[in-house]
Amino acid sequence: METVPKDLRQLRACLLCSLIKTLEQFEMDGCDNCEELLQLRNSREAIYDCTSSNFDGMIGLMSPEESWVARWQRIGSFKRGCYAVSVSGELPRHIAQELRSRGVRYQSRDRTAKMN
Ligand SMILES: [Zn+2]
Repeated sequence: METVPKDLRQLRACLLCSLIKTLEQFEMDGCDNCEELLQLRNSREAIYDCTSSNFDGMIGLMSPEESWVARWQRIGSFKRGCYAVSVSGELPRHIAQELRSRGVRYQSRDRTAKMN
């Protein structure tokens, strides 16, 4: 049982919405925003597929409706929490396709690639 919740090595960011939580939190509760789509709860495999430990920046989202950060990140309808500015990695192709078939537009959260 992990007793250090703020262990940075355990932090991962959701590839779909950028929400940052610990591996353990994803395992226990799934993603606050995308659980219905990604079904991360109790599935370490799905968590490794759909979240990344390689991310940059961290923004706190306290008031999603008003925050300019939320508008900039296009996360206005998301839950409060900590979000990454950039997440490295891509959702696996079959998951991206599944999202598209449900009418969800997946955009890579990786902003570092564009700068290089
Ligand atoms: Zn998510």
